[in-house]
Amino acid sequence: MATTSQDPKRLQTVPNAGDVFGDETPLGLGNLGGSTDGPLEVVHVFWVAGMSCDGCSVAVTGATNPSVEELLAGTIPGLPRAVLHHPVLSVSAGAGFMKSFHAAARGELGAPYVLVIEGSIPDDQAFPSDSGYYSAMGAGGFDPISEGDQPNRMTDWVLKLAPGAAATVAIGTCATWGGIPAAAGNVTGSMSLTDFLGQDYRSALGVPIVNIPGCAPVGDNFTEVVAGLLMFLQGLGPLPEFDELGRPSWQFKETVHRHCVRAGYYEEGTFAEMPGDQECLVDVGCWGPVVQCNITERGAINHMGGCMVAGGACIGCTMPGFPDKFAPFYKAPPGSFVSGSISRTTGAGIRRLRRMSQANMNRTPLWDRTGHVPTPFAKQMSQPSRVSRIEGFFYKKLQYNGSADLDKVNKTQPNPKTMDFLGRGSHQELERYTPGAPGEGAHVEETT
Ligand code: SF4
Ligand code: SF4
Repeated sequence: MATTSQDPKRLQTVPNAGDVFGDETPLGLGNLGGSTDGPLEVVHVFWVAGMSCDGCSVAVTGATNPSVEELLAGTIPGLPRAVLHHPVLSVSAGAGFMKSFHAAARGELGAPYVLVIEGSIPDDQAFPSDSGYYSAMGAGGFDPISEGDQPNRMTDWVLKLAPGAAATVAIGTCATWGGIPAAAGNVTGSMSLTDFLGQDYRSALGVPIVNIPGCAPVGDNFTEVVAGLLMFLQGLGPLPEFDELGRPSWQFKETVHRHCVRAGYYEEGTFAEMPGDQECLVDVGCWGPVVQCNITERGAINHMGGCMVAGGACIGCTMPGFPDKFAPFYKAPPGSFVSGSISRTTGAGIRRLRRMSQANMNRTPLWDRTGHVPTPFAKQMSQPSRVSRIEGFFYKKLQYNGSADLDKVNKTQPNPKTMDFLGRGSHQELERYTPGAPGEGAHVEETT
């Protein structure tokens, strides 16, 4: 696959970018600072889609913290207002919509901008100019007096807009790692934005490509980073922290498994046999233990939903190499045999001990003393077994070791003669509990 990604000369230089960012920029990663022209009132966001399904756009519109509306309205204190130029969401169309793109490409926008790329980058720069493309936006070339009608390749837009951008953000797994359009069998030579621009790329402020993966990504992951970048541009905060692959490190540090709602089932060694089952999904193809994604903490939208909450196994959609390296889907990952077997072995014992403790803990001290649970549901509640009572006895010994033994104190509480409090009509008929002399309503589960 021929690519031009390693040739920085193909990147356009933006002649007037210094007017926006000040003479002292770019400062480079070793000396990061925001715009020297701040405080900024407006920052433009140019959204360019390549080989994409628009799923990332849909995901971002669901963001709530902050929401797209808050960024566009400029209602977040201290942050400049974002002006979004989006091929699907913008209300303008045609030449009017493209006008700002061309101004930015010529360095004549007069305001800083962030470039957002959704979708993979096709390998169409190898085609002779005007003779083919895989993805395009607008037409007529980049010369203002051009009368051509050929579509403008999205790859050309990337090459023209990326150098002058304050920051360039790749959203979604297609733009960050190549994703589905770059999977086995693709005929477009699709690749990630990082592959296309190469490792030497820096934005006008010296920032490498920021990668926010996911298929589709969590919308809040994107708007949160944009807000952080705007704060940085405004000089109100440092550049957000990114990991070795350009991901926001606080969002992609942890594995799915560590925060999964089903992690307790894994630990206790109980596993789903079918996708709809409630237990851990590793046997039906969950890659969560090795996948970096925060959907289990953040939910899909507004802290709700997310793969395991909705019953889905993790198929690694945020990871480089998705989908091929996680295929076939819904087949147990080979490594899960070892960890799952260990978990089954240790989990079986832990699970039984916990159920015994749980049975003991599900009773008030009064119910323990009287042996009576005053609810019709309790008819289905079995009395603690002898083993359970012995376990409870030792458990409480350890629990209260070095502290006031509340279990002992509870055993000396006055017991009611009857548990029929309403029928008796008064609380005066209490008797002191006398160990070894159980009377009416005075039975005590000694070891629980
Ligand atoms: S469902 Fe997946 S992420 Fe959740 S506990 Fe099981 S293996 Fe871990
Ligand atoms: S849990 Fe897995 S499948 Fe779900 S969004 Fe995260 S990486 Fe993708």
